[in-house]
Amino acid sequence: MSDLNEVGERDNWICWLCDTPVDPDASVNSDRGPSVDSFEVARSKKKSDTVERLAHRSCNTMKGKIAPVVPWPEHLLVVDPSPIVATVDRLNKKGGREAIARCPSREDGLEAASWLLDRLSRYSPESNFDVEVVPGGGQFLLMLKAA
Ligand SMILES: [Zn+2]
Repeated sequence: MSDLNEVGERDNWICWLCDTPVDPDASVNSDRGPSVDSFEVARSKKKSDTVERLAHRSCNTMKGKIAPVVPWPEHLLVVDPSPIVATVDRLNKKGGREAIARCPSREDGLEAASWLLDRLSRYSPESNFDVEVVPGGGQFLLMLKAA
């Protein structure tokens, strides 16, 4: 396991799950204290890697016993969002692209796309994803594509 300070510095002391700051000086035994979350990320059908990210102790998935859930933030205007982690694992295994959410306007789509790419770089740093904002049905589809 990596050093907590090393993981914390790399992740800028932001919890990868709830996207809020982690106090590096808080006790590692308190709920809001820092911890290293290590979990498996699918790379292909047969291969997965262990990834280590900074998380609050209370957010930590405890070595993958709890499936990580990356919540969509309330300030983004997304409709019918798909679970992020499940979609990413599916794309890592099979490739291709999937609609991950719908947005009312192109601007909302672009904002959601840049938020999503930032979160994905923390969940699955070795994977390359593209997000496209595609007009369809009077709305804009957020298409996540395995690169
Ligand atoms: Zn957290």
